[in-house]
Amino acid sequence: MSPNRFDVVVIGGGHAGIEAALAAARMGCRTALLTLNVDAVGQMSCNPAIGGVGKGQIAREIDALGGAMGLITDASAIQYRLLNRGKGPAMHGPRAQCDKKLYQITAKETVERQERLTLRQESIEAVRVEQGKVVGVLCRGGVVYEARAVVLTTGTFLQALMHTGELKTAGGRAGDPAAQGLSSSLRALGIELRRFKTGTPPRLNGRTINFRRLEEQPGDDDPTFFSSLTTALNGPQMVCHLTATNEQVHDLIRANLHRAPMYCGQIDSRGPRYCPSIEDKVVRFGDRSSHQIFLEPEGRRTLEYYCNGISTSLPRDVQEAIIPLIPGLEHAEIMRFGYAVEYDYAPPTQLRASLEVKEWPGLFLAGQINGTTGYEEAAAQGLVAGINAALSVQNREPFILDRSQAYIGVLIDDLVTKGVDEPYRMFTSRAEFRLALRYDNADLRLTELGRRLGLVDELRWRTFQERVERMERLGERLRTFKVDGETLERRLRRPTTTWEELRALDPELPAEASDPSSVRHWLAELKYDGYLVRQRDQVEKFRRWEDKPIPEDLDYDALTQLRHEAREKFAATRPVTFGQAGRISGVAPADLAVLLVYLKKGG
Ligand code: FAD
Repeated sequence: MSPNRFDVVVIGGGHAGIEAALAAARMGCRTALLTLNVDAVGQMSCNPAIGGVGKGQIAREIDALGGAMGLITDASAIQYRLLNRGKGPAMHGPRAQCDKKLYQITAKETVERQERLTLRQESIEAVRVEQGKVVGVLCRGGVVYEARAVVLTTGTFLQALMHTGELKTAGGRAGDPAAQGLSSSLRALGIELRRFKTGTPPRLNGRTINFRRLEEQPGDDDPTFFSSLTTALNGPQMVCHLTATNEQVHDLIRANLHRAPMYCGQIDSRGPRYCPSIEDKVVRFGDRSSHQIFLEPEGRRTLEYYCNGISTSLPRDVQEAIIPLIPGLEHAEIMRFGYAVEYDYAPPTQLRASLEVKEWPGLFLAGQINGTTGYEEAAAQGLVAGINAALSVQNREPFILDRSQAYIGVLIDDLVTKGVDEPYRMFTSRAEFRLALRYDNADLRLTELGRRLGLVDELRWRTFQERVERMERLGERLRTFKVDGETLERRLRRPTTTWEELRALDPELPAEASDPSSVRHWLAELKYDGYLVRQRDQVEKFRRWEDKPIPEDLDYDALTQLRHEAREKFAATRPVTFGQAGRISGVAPADLAVLLVYLKKGG
């Protein structure tokens, strides 16, 4: 066999590419992961943290399916916090601050250790096609890789341009080059590309920060791990610190807006609305006199600090003038300046729910190239694209999660059905069944599916079965043990009863910290019971319509009762289920009724 012939070739060793390549190889495919710089596999381009509200649920779902992100996070975490603790369990979001270098090295090692997976440094310039099918890729220097499926996960690198004030440099991330040739190859295949931008804050030398003036933010005493296989911290947790901007900072930014690429017309592409730059915040929230800044250590063996909250593309001299105006940073030295990056993305309505390009069988796109932002969103898509690339090579049916099964299902359905007009990030509000899609039950929802795909190994499967047994035993105890004629289950349903109060009544119950997955499961299930019953009902109704298939070659022009706009939208999106058709923006209930009548008649 030629050395450059593979079943699946994955382009890009970022968070999407890692999951895609590992999944394809674990499912039995001979796989290559080709990336611009092997030393940057798993690099955290921006914030050295995984998780948060919505994103933490996604990271746990990736772990539940047998992906790598959870284990890499736990191996490199330096602080854990469960966000939104004060709210209901569906709103809780685990977050971990990571040692950036250790995360990257662990990701690279995970890839290196994987059987059937070849990791190689290459720059890909074109996707090769023959007779309407993808057959491989062409690298700089003329080297060809043949493949039966190709997964593109090029992140922020396509035609990437970095901005710091007036200074423009080609590059997908500080220190890395841009990918120049690939965009024209994709356009030649008829794939539409557009531009987005994102930005990052300056990093400071911790030796020059006056921490004594700042509020400390420690990690949780009972850390919430990202993998169900993790049982202990990898080392002591580190603290973060809190500071804030002030009016002086805002005045200086306002005085220099004409030099900010976003405001002087140098960048006209959209950035992430929910992760705005400090200049955006000052303009959009003009009445606020202060914005929080979290100073987050980038690792155990470095003094570099990430300034979470002041992402910026203002010129270097303005960044140097702003920093000393911030409490605690009076003498702080900048190690790296903030910058913004503009890059090409491919509007994701060009994809099927399997993440395969509709017009090009065998070509899959995942991660930031699909218009998303964030490591977790990228990794989730990578996992699904890698699974589906392997399934397509094996002539098996695609793997698609629906909106009631997982945040990953919500993410991909939103992308392929509605598209994006700004960088897409996950929120709990995007998931209509969020009460059931909690981080604490991700394994109960998904691990069996991962096992069937061949992604869940013996250890994970055994751990999962033990966890289910423990949880069921605890459920049995709650249902049967009575105090004053009342079961513990009934007591726990009361909104005000806490787990500690219950343990005072029955000392045989485990402490929350000793078996968090079982305890948190029952706390959520019983406190939410009424709502969950209603939601399960809705899920059932959703499924009934959701899965009603629509023939892919349906001639919408023949459905003359459809409004013109709906006919165009259906024809462009080509929904494959009735549920997907209903979520296309611009489609009215009357159009759906027309479609349903047609489908009921059996097409
Ligand atoms: P990436 O992690 O970008 O990985 C892409 C990989 O593809 C790289 O390894 C690259 O070398 C490789 N590659 C690209 N082209 C080629 C080619 N032609 N041949 C071979 N290899 C290639 N996310 C947030 O959530 N919030 C933020 O505030 C935020 N700010 C950011 C600021 C900056 C400056 C940058 C660069 C990113 C920021 N991100 C932010 C985004 C976050 O980094 C990404 O969402 C995430 O890394 C995307 O993962 P990915 O796998 O899609 O791509």
